[in-house]
Amino acid sequence: MRQETLAVHAGRTGLRSAGVHASPIDLSTTYPLSDMEAGGEALQALAEGAPTASTPVYGRLYNPTVGRFEEGLAQLEGAQAAVAFASGMAAITALLMIARGHGEHVVAVRPLYGGSDHLLSAGLCGLPVTWARPEEVADKVTEKTAFVLCETPANPTLALIDIEQIVRDSGDVPVVVDSTFATPILQNPLRLGARLVVHSATKFLGGHGDVMGGVVAGCESLCAELRSLRAVTGAVLHPLAGYLLHRGLQTLSVRVRTQQAGARIIAERLAENPHVRRVYYPGFGSESDRKILQRQMAGPGSLIAFELDGGREAASRMMSAVRLALPAVSLGATDTLIQHPAALTHRIVEEEVRSRHAVSGALLRVSVGLEHPEDLWQDLQQALSRAHSDPPVSMRRTA
Ligand SMILES: *Cc1c(COP(=O)(O)O)cnc(C)c1O
Repeated sequence: MRQETLAVHAGRTGLRSAGVHASPIDLSTTYPLSDMEAGGEALQALAEGAPTASTPVYGRLYNPTVGRFEEGLAQLEGAQAAVAFASGMAAITALLMIARGHGEHVVAVRPLYGGSDHLLSAGLCGLPVTWARPEEVADKVTEKTAFVLCETPANPTLALIDIEQIVRDSGDVPVVVDSTFATPILQNPLRLGARLVVHSATKFLGGHGDVMGGVVAGCESLCAELRSLRAVTGAVLHPLAGYLLHRGLQTLSVRVRTQQAGARIIAERLAENPHVRRVYYPGFGSESDRKILQRQMAGPGSLIAFELDGGREAASRMMSAVRLALPAVSLGATDTLIQHPAALTHRIVEEEVRSRHAVSGALLRVSVGLEHPEDLWQDLQQALSRAHSDPPVSMRRTA
């Protein structure tokens, strides 16, 4: 079946025979055990990473509502299985914790989401990290590499990384792709040879800015390790969040495509605006970027980054001048969000690393929502004009 159909139907088996339309929300933290021995066996199986058992036993081991979301996402990614977590960072933390059983270091390709960059740099998960540019992966990978971690489109400049090339350069080492910006509608890293794909489900999968979650999809054996780790460390997805994320999948394809159509228009107008120095949008870059886009994505998505004339001052004025767009971190919601990476999402990343990856003070990132592109453009245009005519924020403060 095609993505649009899977988005609506995946994870809904058994609903019809149960006589319901919407999937039931199971809030149980514990489950009645009719037989002690069978209960013990189920507990052990789930703790060791089995996908299901005769009873969930306890809410930290398994939840059927969350299971439906996992099933839906796995099908959209063409994966054997998926494992959901309390947030995207919980999912990435779990990946790094299982990495310890697979090698002595991870190779991480910059730029990454600020939180992932910080988690890796801080060494909180115990494994040393070897940083690499995409073209350095082959040199940095050794027999002792547990995973190669990359993100594409990357945050916040929407740089594209050639997943198939990274897979080739990594040899036998599993490649993990953070595909949050692309969603399974625009990109399926597993079909390009990656072993695992991770999403911050908080963004497009939930899609309405009202649920946090994370999910990893891939082969059953690595998913079993992740389930087993999740059972011990406890960063489970709440069943209500599981329900909302599963519901979010049903409209994922329409949201992603409509937001993308709006973003194309906004990106083109930004590129023509005299106050905008540079627009970062997949497909606007080099010839090689356009080729990667064509090969591995079904479209450029709905995130745009752009650099203003007038540096950080102008960027800050634009953030305060928008009326329809919301100045807020995060992305993938139904409404348009605008944020300043250097001051916000990438604040935690070392200054030197930020500037190497074009995260300047003049850079803003927009996540285009479902508004009519003309209304949104009107707002961005007036904010751009005000950013360049209003007195600087620092002067206003003293006035
Ligand atoms: C938001 C985000 C994360 C972290 O996810 P949370 O759900 O906020 O924990 C990881 N990677 C990318 C690309 C993100 O945008």
